[in-house]
Parts: sequence; structure tokens; C-alpha cells
Amino acid sequence: LPPRELAPLPWDESALQPVISAATVGLHYGKHHRGYVKTLNELIEGTQYGEMPLETIIARTDGRADRCAIFNSAAQVWNHDFYWRSMKPGGGGAPPPALARAIEADFGSVEACVKALAEAATTHFGSGWAWLVEHEGTLRVTATGNAHVPFTAGMKPLLVIDVWEHAYYMDYQNRRADHVDAVLRELIDWEFAESNLA
Ligand code: MN
Repeated sequence: LPPRELAPLPWDESALQPVISAATVGLHYGKHHRGYVKTLNELIEGTQYGEMPLETIIARTDGRADRCAIFNSAAQVWNHDFYWRSMKPGGGGAPPPALARAIEADFGSVEACVKALAEAATTHFGSGWAWLVEHEGTLRVTATGNAHVPFTAGMKPLLVIDVWEHAYYMDYQNRRADHVDAVLRELIDWEFAESNLA
């Protein structure tokens, strides 16, 4: 495999305004995400990890104290690739029918699922990620700390919200709940979640 590349954003940097400013997307993508890609390439060049798919690097380094720098960079590249695709301009609203049925079966209602996601994203202590996942045939909400991913624990990610402060602090300062509510109401891409469930 060639060096990992920074995956392009699926929309313009200004496309998520006014929920997420172009300045926040520019910094988040152009500095944070790009930095994780750069660090990962520096750490894995010439090592056994240099030829592995990203998911394999993450699985092989997860929980290894002597590989935590590689794990953190690889997982943050994966998480950000997934995060950008979890949002779109004109998102939010009602999930497509198949996903809506699955959500209603496991949460009772779409509203209850959105509330659970908002609560997980808002109450997670410190840096991390709030996820809608599928686990053993059931949809659920979970949160991971720092760079951690759900799939190393057997959970299939459907969508994610970044709750690191760099995701919202310029636009919302300490009001993480306001940011999360706006993302869920106006940006979350249920079609992307459904495509991951299929
Ligand atoms: Mn981030």
C-alpha cells in the first residue's frame, strides 16, 4: 500500500454552515485530521504496519501499550473519515424506511434514538466519540474515549459524532449540547447509517 492519504471531504468546507462553520471544518480537517494522517505515515513507514489496511493496523495495535501512538493515529484517521461521512448539508429529519423500522424496533422511536445519541455525546467525559452501532443484531448507542473505535469490540459503526472539543469549541465554546443537538437535527446523514447497516 502507498502512504495513507487524507480522504477528501464529501462536501465543501462551508457546506455545514451555520451548524458547523467553515473555519471549524477547515481547522478540524486541514490541521487535526491531516495531522493524524501525517503522523500515521511517519510511524508506520518501513514497519510491518506499512502494508496493512487501516482497519488491520487498528485491530493489531489496539490495547498494546508499546503501539499506542500507531493505534491513536490510525484510529483517529479512521474515525474522522467516518465522521465526515456521517454528516451532510440538509441532513437530520427522518431516517429512510428500513433504518427507521430498525430504530423503532430497538429504541421504540426515532426520537428516543436521537435522544440517546444526544445524551451519549453530551455526557461523555473528555475527548471521544458517540456512536450509533449494530451489535449482535441490535441497534444501540455507545461512546468511546479518545481514539477508540467500536469495531474492535465487535460493534458495527453506523454513524458517529465527534465530541472532542476541537469539533465544536470555536463555534459553541463550552456548549457541547447545543452543538450536538444541531448536528442531530440538521446534519446527521441517516442514509449513510442505513448503508452501513445493509
Ligand atoms: Mn476530531
